[in-house]
Amino acid sequence: MKGLAVYPGSFDPITLGHLNVIKRAARVFDRIIVCVGTNSSKKPVFSIEERVAQVKRVCERFPNVEVDFSDRLVADYCRSKGAQIVIRGLRALSDFEHECQMANINRKMNPDLDTFFLVADSKYTYLSSTAVKEMARYGADLREYIPREIIQEIEEKVGKGGK
Ligand code: ADP
Repeated sequence: MKGLAVYPGSFDPITLGHLNVIKRAARVFDRIIVCVGTNSSKKPVFSIEERVAQVKRVCERFPNVEVDFSDRLVADYCRSKGAQIVIRGLRALSDFEHECQMANINRKMNPDLDTFFLVADSKYTYLSSTAVKEMARYGADLREYIPREIIQEIEEKVGKGGK
């Protein structure tokens, strides 16, 4: 499909669920910007610089995926980039209400904007950055959940001996 799509999120840290959404979006749209942002209801463990560096490393394999960061509203960020599509991932019904509300708010602020929802592979249905951080704290094996390029960094920061 022609066009530029923005995939915004906290990515604290990026998981294989996020990556699965990116892979699917990159097959559909010409160009994707993964935009690492702030979510005022979440206090991130990784700084914005760390998250951008992690997402960049993991997305190097996709030639049509770029990585950026923003502390602006998604609707404003998309307008500034000339993007008319926002990508979001849906896991369970529990995501739906919040995501639907965000999609409507974003469209109200920027009427040109539509949100496309993608469902990741079912093995990632229960995967979230929060769950990953919890598992890392207890020294669990992260290989099924986190891209291999960033496992060591996550273990060092969040795992036993980290914070
Ligand atoms: P935010 O704080 O903006 O919700 P997240 O990094 O938690 O940022 O998530 C970004 C997007 O990716 C959200 O739309 C979320 O529903 C989606 N997402 C997160 N994990 C998964 C997953 N395992 N499968 C599919 N979508 C996911």
